[in-house]
Amino acid sequence: MNFSTIIAQESIKQRLRQQLITGQIPHAQLFCGPDGCGKLPMALAFAKALLCQNPKNGEACEECRSCKMLHHWEHPDLHFIYPIKKTQATPLCKSYLPAWREELTRSPYLDSVRWNEAMQVENQQPCIYVADADAISETLYLAAQQGGYRVVIIWKAEVLMEQAANKLLKILEEPPAHTVFLLITSNPNNILPTILSRTQRIQFNALTPAELTQVLTEVHGLSSEDALPIARSSSGSYIQAVRQLQVNEEREMFFDMFVQLMRKCYLRDIREMHRWSELVAEWGRTKQKDFLQYCQHLIRENFIFNFHQPELNYMSKKERDFSVRFSPFINEKNVINIMNELSLAERDIAQNVNARMVFFDFALKMIVLLIQK
Ligand SMILES: [Zn+2]
Repeated sequence: MNFSTIIAQESIKQRLRQQLITGQIPHAQLFCGPDGCGKLPMALAFAKALLCQNPKNGEACEECRSCKMLHHWEHPDLHFIYPIKKTQATPLCKSYLPAWREELTRSPYLDSVRWNEAMQVENQQPCIYVADADAISETLYLAAQQGGYRVVIIWKAEVLMEQAANKLLKILEEPPAHTVFLLITSNPNNILPTILSRTQRIQFNALTPAELTQVLTEVHGLSSEDALPIARSSSGSYIQAVRQLQVNEEREMFFDMFVQLMRKCYLRDIREMHRWSELVAEWGRTKQKDFLQYCQHLIRENFIFNFHQPELNYMSKKERDFSVRFSPFINEKNVINIMNELSLAERDIAQNVNARMVFFDFALKMIVLLIQK
């Protein structure tokens, strides 16, 4: 991870490299901009170059001891503050540090969806609590300094709780020597004006469709024909583009599994149906639920397909081609029952019923339901 692996944002890279070369580094900077444009990767690359023992032209060398430690973001002078869920009396983000480092190593293009998943947060808005502001203050003022810079990255500064924000303000007002704060936010309006006034702001723009297309073709190996629609509908976010890519891949796989099952049911090949359900049973529960929802979508679309109103159909070309032959099997006699079976299966999966049984059971019922005409 260094400046060259960050997508676009060339003028910001240039500005930060210049700071590194001249050594004129503001003690607190605010990286502002929409999700998925590369603020956190930029902060990490900057921190790495700052901590590197042998930087060249404002880039980390990737070889010194410090750079090696930063391969997995473990460095005594790099501190992170990020939102966490409230589980104990004094929640500290330190307790999520292994998960945090793992997510950064997977991809520094991190958003709250992935971070919340990693922390297993469902119906809660994670926050930055005062305990973390206290902890960082203690570390910065009391711990012996090793020489060189110390970097504090505060990710999602907009969710600082009030007390935490006030504490942080005190640190920013009397900054310890050789300490660089990088605050990251997509929503500066939710940050205390007194904190904002203590930081130098760097504004990031959303990525352009051309920039996203380039990374989708060069890094992800898509054709430009496939890349362009994804680039256009990702709101300038690399994170959204990757997510769409995964959804597309998963959807194709779901389609194949659905077609396989329908063929096996039609042929009444019980042995193969059993093998099919064993395969699906190996997936995680979330994927199984997504698959069952996809099946409901496809059944509904096939039922509608019979009415020859293409403007009401939402299917890919591949799905539509399949519907030409499959849709007659989905009709007034069976559509409600099939949908019911699918939603029952979904409920069972949510309640942790043995997945192999749920899917095999559904497959067996489909034998009967498919011949109701
Ligand atoms: Zn280095």
